[in-house]
Amino acid sequence: MAKETISLIEIHELCVAALTNAGAHQAAALAVAGSIRDAERDGSFSHGIFRLPGFVASLRSGKVDGTAEPELSFPTPALILCDARRGMAPYALQRALPELVRATQRMGIAALAMRNSAHFAALWPEVEALAEAGLAGIACTNYLPVVAPAGARERLLGTNPLAFAWPRPNAAPLVFDMATAARALGDVQLAAREGASLPEGIGIDRDGEDTTDPAAILSGALIPFGGYKGSAISLMVELLSGSLIGQMSSLGNAEADNNDGGPPPRGELIIGLNPDLLSGGCWRAEAETFLKRLEAQPDLRLPGQRRHARRGHVTTTVVEADLIETVRALAF
Ligand code: NDP
Repeated sequence: MAKETISLIEIHELCVAALTNAGAHQAAALAVAGSIRDAERDGSFSHGIFRLPGFVASLRSGKVDGTAEPELSFPTPALILCDARRGMAPYALQRALPELVRATQRMGIAALAMRNSAHFAALWPEVEALAEAGLAGIACTNYLPVVAPAGARERLLGTNPLAFAWPRPNAAPLVFDMATAARALGDVQLAAREGASLPEGIGIDRDGEDTTDPAAILSGALIPFGGYKGSAISLMVELLSGSLIGQMSSLGNAEADNNDGGPPPRGELIIGLNPDLLSGGCWRAEAETFLKRLEAQPDLRLPGQRRHARRGHVTTTVVEADLIETVRALAF
């Protein structure tokens, strides 16, 4: 498949143009374009430019409102409710995350319950924003049912990502950000586009048989990582980003969805934890001793290190030629 090298600056410009053409206001378009550019920069291709046509489809169909202004409320000093009003998550998060940082700094533990937010991106920006302020963070969101839980063949769970960040003095934070499915759906879709096969243990076909064919998985189901253990974590994500905050499960999201290929507005839970207040101020040395012991292992790398190592020197990305042609057509 033909590919094109393109600068991150151009990626950003094309995204802003395509999103504003589809009805998003400038600030929302800038927020989403920034998240797509940063995903390409970090090598998180499943949530990079590949997602733009889906965002545009949802803006055009009216499922997502590119002019929505998020509404914030504060039921307690440690709880921020943000109704994104069917707007795009990166824009709503720009407004809500500074409030979560402030509340966590004061209260020790605080939560941000995001509602009706169209999330089509990686979750690390949420938790890294907390870590950059010296706080730890946990974030999760459900999606559409594309994963069969352990013991089932039916698609009942979302890919349900879970992210965690931990602040480190004079270093990039420790961050993991992962689908609880054995593979992010975007990676399976990309493999199907490229005609590549996947390793075993990613998904099943319509008959419930293991398969390495991404097209068969897309018409069958993904499976969770780690069997029943990953399935349990995914179940937790369904409840924490669904019922707990007055939102639907992935199954409910699907019933309300118009199947335009874009992100269903839904829930996301983000929790901030203040190690200074929770530990009494003595957390850094213990954490660093532990993490440095891990780093001393010759074949071990900490999660987040690959992405952070790319920052500062990656200025271009490689995109399938037909995808970039589609994006240019949306932009001009
Ligand atoms: P990966 O499996 O690529 O990576 C998961 C995590 O594991 C990353 O933090 C990664 O760090 C770390 N990691 C990978 N390899 C190693 C290794 N050898 N040693 C140590 N750590 C390692 O991610 P997924 O494919 O599961 O998810 C991709 C993205 O998809 C995520 O950003 C997620 O938020 C997003 N997503 C979003 C959804 C949504 O609805 N918005 C739905 C599902 C997924 P590093 O980055 O440094 O490689």
